Amino acid sequence: MNQTQIEQSIRQLAETQNLADEGLLAILSAPLSESEAGFSASFAESQPGFSASFAESRPGSPASFTAPQPGSSAEARRTRISYTPTPLDKALFSAADAVRQSYYGKKVFLRGLIEFSNYCKNDCYYCGIRRSNQGLKRYRLEETDIMECCRTGYSYGLRTFVLQSGEDAHFNQDVRQLSQLVRRIKDTWPDCAVTLSVGELDRERYEMLYEAGADRYLLRHETAAETLYRKWHPDGMSLAYRKQCLYELKEIGYQVGAGFMVGAPEQTAEDLLADLRFLQELQPDMIGIGPFLHHRDTPFRDAPDGSFALTLRCLALLRLLFPYALLPATTALGTIHPLGRELGLSAGANVIMPNISPGSVRGQYLLYDGKICTDEDGQHCHACLEARVRSRGYEIACERGDAVRSPRERAMP
Ligand code: SAH
Repeated sequence: MNQTQIEQSIRQLAETQNLADEGLLAILSAPLSESEAGFSASFAESQPGFSASFAESRPGSPASFTAPQPGSSAEARRTRISYTPTPLDKALFSAADAVRQSYYGKKVFLRGLIEFSNYCKNDCYYCGIRRSNQGLKRYRLEETDIMECCRTGYSYGLRTFVLQSGEDAHFNQDVRQLSQLVRRIKDTWPDCAVTLSVGELDRERYEMLYEAGADRYLLRHETAAETLYRKWHPDGMSLAYRKQCLYELKEIGYQVGAGFMVGAPEQTAEDLLADLRFLQELQPDMIGIGPFLHHRDTPFRDAPDGSFALTLRCLALLRLLFPYALLPATTALGTIHPLGRELGLSAGANVIMPNISPGSVRGQYLLYDGKICTDEDGQHCHACLEARVRSRGYEIACERGDAVRSPRERAMP
């Protein structure tokens, strides 16, 4: 496909919210940029402490899986990333931004993220809090600590609290404690939404938590390609079951979030296409994606990080395919590039999730090396994000921020 054909495809995508496999594959596998300085440069120059030159270390095929240079740390490689969108990306981002403007105006919704336990019974090959990682201090927050996080978050204007954890058997086998916590948060702040992200449970437990007042549930499917799912997870974990959980959550009445990782080992453009098609079938309210980032104590320690440029491209595609969706500019995006979340907003994202976990445990919820915002307190985190959102011409909306499903609900430009 040449540039004109690709631009035609983008127009079609924006008008019809769909595209044939061939068109999507052409976009997903088009070359990524790697030159110095980028559209981030002007912002970076105006921000003390931000460096303008980040050379993307590994553009090109998402399928490649080569060992990193000897001696290069994750952080050192990341600071070399320089990002300039290609003409294709510029066209995608401006189409995505226009669609998002027509649904949400300039609003960016905040979600206060509380990582309340890093115990996990699973052993995903990519994840830093996997069961087999013994070099990690495990923690589980008390209910009073979690309530305190919410209280502080509420005072900053947050109106959604996301309770995330590993698959902690303590909470998940007997969900009464978690239900009680959800109820307490909803009773104390009835104007807030509670989002859970605690992994795979059976239907009965999802129902109990919903009855306790939980509004939303985040469960990334990670990859919709069966063969790839097998390569990223040990035997005993099942993509079919994860998908079933997502459908059940939807049936129960939750606003559901799915999502995938970009650039974990051996992923191809076809695999990403499978993710987009699965999401079209599921029609989730929220879609969370981020680049794969390696963690030194996992089997994927030597795998290169996912591509920043490809993650932004996927975000823009998601905005065009799911105009109504709540799309976060994730922490992983902010970790791989100092302006990752800002660029994510410009590519179509409309949600940011400030970490409001107590400072004392932040360094222990390390899903990948180099995770940002682990040595800050809530207030600093909040002020920093607010400045970042404003820097791109968007505004923070101090509200629950539910998905805009019907044209009638759309924000007036
Ligand atoms: N236990 C919950 C929450 C998991 S952590 C659940 O099962 O849903 C939240 C997300 O972090 C995961 O869904 C995964 O997509 C992402 N993640 C984990 N390890 C990662 C890594 N190394 N790089 C990038 N993202 C990662």
